[in-house]
Amino acid sequence: MLDAPATDDETEAIAETVGRWADQRIHPLALDRAHHIPVGLLHEMGEMGLFGLTLPESHGGSGLGLSAAAAVIERLARRDRSVATTLGLHLGLGTRGLVRYGTPAQLERWVPTLSTGKTIAAFATTEPDSGSDLSALRTTIGPHDDGLSVRGNKIFVTNGALATLYTVSGRSPELGGARRGQSLVLLSRADAGLVIGAEEVKLGLRASSTTTLDLDDMAVPMDRLLGVAGTGAEMLRHILSWGRTVMAAGCVGTAAAALAATRAHTEQRVQFGKPLVRLAVVREQLADMAAITFAAGALVHDASRDEAQLEISSLSAKVFASEAAGEVCDLALQLHGGYGFIEETGIALLVRDTRITRIFEGANDVLRIHRGLFAAVTESAAAPHPEVASEAWARAARVRTASSRAVRQAKERLGLRLGGDHRVLHALGARAILADVTEAAVRRAAREGTPAAAALAARWTDIAASRISAIDSREPDTSQSEHCLEWTP
Ligand SMILES: Cc1cc2nc3c(=O)[nH]c(=O)nc-3n(C[C@H](O)[C@H](O)[C@H](O)COP(=O)(O)OP(=O)(O)OC[C@H]3O[C@@H](n4cnc5c(N)ncnc54)[C@H](O)[C@@H]3O)c2cc1C
Repeated sequence: MLDAPATDDETEAIAETVGRWADQRIHPLALDRAHHIPVGLLHEMGEMGLFGLTLPESHGGSGLGLSAAAAVIERLARRDRSVATTLGLHLGLGTRGLVRYGTPAQLERWVPTLSTGKTIAAFATTEPDSGSDLSALRTTIGPHDDGLSVRGNKIFVTNGALATLYTVSGRSPELGGARRGQSLVLLSRADAGLVIGAEEVKLGLRASSTTTLDLDDMAVPMDRLLGVAGTGAEMLRHILSWGRTVMAAGCVGTAAAALAATRAHTEQRVQFGKPLVRLAVVREQLADMAAITFAAGALVHDASRDEAQLEISSLSAKVFASEAAGEVCDLALQLHGGYGFIEETGIALLVRDTRITRIFEGANDVLRIHRGLFAAVTESAAAPHPEVASEAWARAARVRTASSRAVRQAKERLGLRLGGDHRVLHALGARAILADVTEAAVRRAAREGTPAAAALAARWTDIAASRISAIDSREPDTSQSEHCLEWTP
């Protein structure tokens, strides 16, 4: 069992131990071809204490926080994204609700085996008619004799075929008195009426389990209700904030793996009489990959250490880290040339595995709108950070100022209508995310204090400034969009 660490250094040491194990024991291409993770590998992860990392010490876990989960998932994802997703889902969406809202009896019943990995957790909210729109759930949770009835169909359940415990959301109009919203229940694989579907065949994350879950007229005891009836939406906000941050950490790991592989390839591949890494354009592209990866890591680092701001910062971390990983993996494939397109090289797997991260745990454009809504309420000019050299901070502050200015102008122009204007909120969210990332990158450079870190933060700040300008220069034009949509290709 891992000991509870007190410092970032100890958290890093745990992540490194996990990383060394992963490098020796996980063979990503073999897992991808097999479409599953061998039970023996999951067993080894259980023996290392990985499944109990963030579960309460009182019930056999290590009691660590979000930053430890993020560090371990980042390091695992450097090796393999399917394994990182299986564990990340268990530590994030799968068990977070139980840990945060579970009663002592629920913790006593479920956590000991979840901590050892003897049982694995899953989380099921998506349905055929409720994806991005979480308010459209059709699954119902209602009273039944002394207990609860659960009826519905869930899709795309990560860990679906591996799990023993499922946190499931549903409408609960007959529960919760005045709170007639949604509720969460804990369902067991052994419950009558719970039917696990066949494995989906996917573009990536092929070794990670994804199934449907049919909830056929289930009747379960009242003690399966998680938290307060009718407060499912509030609980989901917390659970998703955690899950998104863990997932974003995995994206940082994927980007780091793609960057490391590309450095190695461009150093040994000779064209035009020199290694690719000596070609001017390639060097610029490698520097961009490094700056983007550095910035994504900085944002996830900060998000995972400030739970008070997590609802907002997890939106930025999830959107930015998933897009950073996509961008870095795409450049990695390009710089590997034809070899990048061949599965054996491993880069194609990174590209395939990372694609879903822009969709699951909230599609990025939906989350940008949410970030825009928060920006409309909270956006303010950045305050100078005491640890940060003033020039670097002044440059970062210009990105935040551009974001704040856009919020102010949108409020002046639209007033209360801003809350319903998704195009404007989307652009505000995009700017706010760039500002969040830039501040995190500058803070990271100050923390690390090396010339390389300063250069990476400065390069990212330049990229962010150019992206803000691009957003500023493209005011949405509805009539133009309408005409474009009239065209039949
Ligand atoms: C491999 C995999 C694993 C998953 N694991 C889980 C899991 O463990 N548990 C779980 O509950 N779910 C899981 N999901 C589901 C996932 O979270 C959903 O796919 C995701 O939330 C998007 O929902 P949807 O697929 O229904 O897309 P839709 O809601 O139909 O949206 C499709 C697209 O439309 C666009 N869009 C939608 N609404 C808006 C808007 N308001 N503004 C702008 N653009 C918009 C976005 O581009 C979006 O990607 C998983 C999915 C996959 C593929």
